[in-house]
Amino acid sequence: MKEMAEVGELATFKLPTGHHIPALGLGTWKSEPNKCREAVYAAVVEAGYRHIDCADKYGNQEEVGEALKAAMETGIARQDLFVTSKLWCADLDPMKVKQALEKALHELQLEYLDLYLIHWPVHTTVDASRPPSKDQVLPLDLNSVWREMEKLVEEKLVRDIGVCNFTVPKLEVLLKTTTIKPAVNQVEMHPGWRNDKILDFCKRHHIHVMAYSPLGSQATDELHDPTVTQIAEKIRKTPGQVLIRWAIQRGVSAIPKSSSPHRIKENMQVFDWKLAAEDFETLSSFQNQKRVQDGYILFINPEEGPLRSLEEFWDGEI
Ligand code: NDP
Repeated sequence: MKEMAEVGELATFKLPTGHHIPALGLGTWKSEPNKCREAVYAAVVEAGYRHIDCADKYGNQEEVGEALKAAMETGIARQDLFVTSKLWCADLDPMKVKQALEKALHELQLEYLDLYLIHWPVHTTVDASRPPSKDQVLPLDLNSVWREMEKLVEEKLVRDIGVCNFTVPKLEVLLKTTTIKPAVNQVEMHPGWRNDKILDFCKRHHIHVMAYSPLGSQATDELHDPTVTQIAEKIRKTPGQVLIRWAIQRGVSAIPKSSSPHRIKENMQVFDWKLAAEDFETLSSFQNQKRVQDGYILFINPEEGPLRSLEEFWDGEI
């Protein structure tokens, strides 16, 4: 499953369902209003991206949809694109799943999604504050939510379904009852948070891993880390390219976000070269491992609970 195949100019991985997922996609979290449209258009039409990673929560799916429509008007076929969106925490209710998907399709101006993911394994109220009060975190009936996700596949509204931010114990629970297994677990991954345990588990269970925040996100300075910059200088690539190539060589797809057409192009130029084994190993050996997107602000309420600590939230994978 993890063999990378060249399809046109863009390498892809094969999902357990046989569908191909591009090894590189464009992230759209914090893709700024009035810039997101241009970024997606530049990515698809000028830089050759075929995967766009979206979410209801990012609040910019309408701009993504306008850009995809314009891109398809240039002759790019829908079946050559791979569009991902995510089910937000307030919609983790079996009664809301289809409605949430239909909203995403409407905003994106699409008839189907290639991939629909559970964004976080937490069910909250629509008006949940940060952190949520005790009453704003609701019981999660994961099996029933997943069954609704499976129905979306059966109805051909979605080609593949998966999850984000799932730990090994949470995946184990899900795998016990699924008819359609999660095709993807989208998780934070970069040299400063390798996420080895999840990668190993997913490889063994044929769940494709998608690396989010592959550049370390805005919060870290991984793009300026001396190890990364030294390797980049040595091989005449940019730090961004080195980090993206590292992810792809681990057998995962990466979804770096950029709103800059220049950096969008730069990030795509990772398919005609490889990191040497020693550089790959160096990047795989960062001592200080730390999550950037730990979900603390979104979900942890140490005083009231129900989730009182990151240790509890991540089932010890912290
Ligand atoms: P990234 O690691 O992709 O980093 C994005 C930052 O890097 C931006 O500030 C961007 O700025 C900058 N950047 C991009 N390319 C380069 C480059 N070549 N050189 C220098 N700087 C660069 O962070 P994200 O956290 O955005 O993660 C990527 C995507 O993953 C998200 O957009 C989202 O789609 C997904 N995601 C999913 C989550 C989940 O829970 N499922 C959680 C977090 C992210 P600029 O735009 O100015 O280029």
